[in-house]
Amino acid sequence: MVYSYTQISQYLRCPRSYRYRYLDGWREKETRAAMVFGRCFEKALGAYFCQEDSAAMLFKEWDAYRNAPFEYRKGESWDHIFHQGVHLLETFARDNRIRICSPQQNLQIKVLRTLPGGSEFVSYLDAIGEIDGQRCLIDWKTTTSRYSTEPAGLLSLDPQLICYSWISGISEVALVVFVRKHAPEIQYLRATISDEQRQEFGRLVETSIGQIEEAQFVSHPGIRFPQNGCLSCPHLGLCLNNEQVVAAKLIRRPGASDLDWLDELVD
Ligand code: SF4
Repeated sequence: MVYSYTQISQYLRCPRSYRYRYLDGWREKETRAAMVFGRCFEKALGAYFCQEDSAAMLFKEWDAYRNAPFEYRKGESWDHIFHQGVHLLETFARDNRIRICSPQQNLQIKVLRTLPGGSEFVSYLDAIGEIDGQRCLIDWKTTTSRYSTEPAGLLSLDPQLICYSWISGISEVALVVFVRKHAPEIQYLRATISDEQRQEFGRLVETSIGQIEEAQFVSHPGIRFPQNGCLSCPHLGLCLNNEQVVAAKLIRRPGASDLDWLDELVD
């Protein structure tokens, strides 16, 4: 078996949801404009570092979804999101705080790690480069609201960054957050992940995989108001036996064992 961060985090969120997705093949339909746009934006960043026209790349990628039946947030549209993206790319170029040497090798880096039981864990790191001269592992995010930076050190608890630090052995990590708000903003957030955190994450991976392989898929319904995790779970219709909700959110690809290869850029 090959595991990824997305799989482990989905298992930890709700094992039942993991079973629906990875064993039964119920995939979420691509209806969220923000998530798809995040992937297009990442391609545009790749073009920027390869000294190509990043805005043209963004247009080309995003144009493929011009007529897609996406759910847009209130006040958003295909055009609006595109212009926010161009504005962010221009700001990023002006800031000029990031260096990626040999972008062909240091963007979207596949890292595989063999686990004690013989399974493998795969990650695609967005980039390894320098922020303000400091070498670090970089993860891009697109979002509509700023990431919290208080209290100090909060970012060092980010499980995805800990995972990437664990698999790469790199302790210096950073999130570059492209905030699509009225006045677009970019946050350059750095953190250091300790050896202890990496070891603890390794144990968490082993424990989770052990439970998956023992077929432990109990549900963790998040029914406590107002943090009801079930409301944002794509598999809610399956748990409620509600065919309408299933049809609106899911598509079934039986036998699906594929990974979410890119740990997606999500709002
Ligand atoms: S709806 Fe709730 S209980 Fe059902 S799979 Fe999703 S998170 Fe788990």
